[in-house]
Amino acid sequence: AAKESGRSTYRFYEPAMRLEAERRHMLTAEMREALQKGQFELFYQPIVQLDHDGLGGFEALLRWRHPERGLIPPMDFIPIAEENGLIVPIGEWVLREACRTAAAWPKHLKIAVNLSVCQFRHNSLLASVVAALDESGLQPERLEIEITESVFLADVEQSLPLLRALKQLGIRIAIDDFGTGYSSFSYLRAFAFDKIKLDRSFISGIETDPGNLAIVRAVVGIGSGFNATTLAEGIETEEQLQKLRAEGFSEVQGFLLGRPMPRSEAEAMIYDGMSRLVG
Ligand code: C2E
Ligand code: MG
Ligand code: MG
Ligand code: MG
Repeated sequence: AAKESGRSTYRFYEPAMRLEAERRHMLTAEMREALQKGQFELFYQPIVQLDHDGLGGFEALLRWRHPERGLIPPMDFIPIAEENGLIVPIGEWVLREACRTAAAWPKHLKIAVNLSVCQFRHNSLLASVVAALDESGLQPERLEIEITESVFLADVEQSLPLLRALKQLGIRIAIDDFGTGYSSFSYLRAFAFDKIKLDRSFISGIETDPGNLAIVRAVVGIGSGFNATTLAEGIETEEQLQKLRAEGFSEVQGFLLGRPMPRSEAEAMIYDGMSRLVG
């Protein structure tokens, strides 16, 4: 009976699986076209420095401005781009665009760019970063690469030398979504990250949850021990901001300080100042 139901299950799912494969196939073609037609866009979310009470820079966040479906968030297409390999050329575009944009900004502002693990495994990464810096003239210290621990899960032997080579360029390396994966502590020891971005899941509820507060404190300690900047992601309330400031975080990012916004709005924020945002 088990065998029979196994077989019927298979037959039942087959058309659905074919539909899914077709959908992916179509999306892949559309994505390739999107790259050629310039439908990808970067939004910029402000990063605020608490020690200087000022704008420290922006994180570049990818969007797809689809002609029929409107603005598509990264989580709806990046996983597919990682499967079909298009994340590599898309990621190269992101690097170039982000560096070109930031090169025109005042020199104290940094730009953070997210890298997917697939880009990391592709042997063109180092050359792409060098090209983006060269073409834009952006000083390497102003570029920050954000990676997640999945980079280490994939292949530590390859990841460490690559990370060191990137750092040799003078750029900064941040660990993103810190605290959400496995063995966070061992890769902190293995590589000298410049910044730790504590995942926003530890920030929500910090006002009332003593567990989250304990984690926040531990991360401040780890940051100072490893000489890394600490950034708290996903600040949505004034209480969270005050708490993280009191605990000694160096930087904050979140809807309270500013949502990801088009380049023109980001530049309005740069040139109009943002003292009103950090009080
Ligand atoms: P991430 O790098 O952790 O980026 C932060 C995400 O949290 C962004 O979502 C941002 O809009 C959102 N966020 C920021 N502040 C708040 C807040 O206060 N509350 C809440 N609820 N959310 C907040 P977004 O733009 O949808 O990006 C999602 C993820 O997609 C990013 O997470 C990153 O992993 C990936 N991603 C974005 N752009 C790129 C890219 O150019 N390349 C690659 N490889 N991945 C990217
Ligand atoms: Mg990020
Ligand atoms: Mg993050
Ligand atoms: Mg994330």
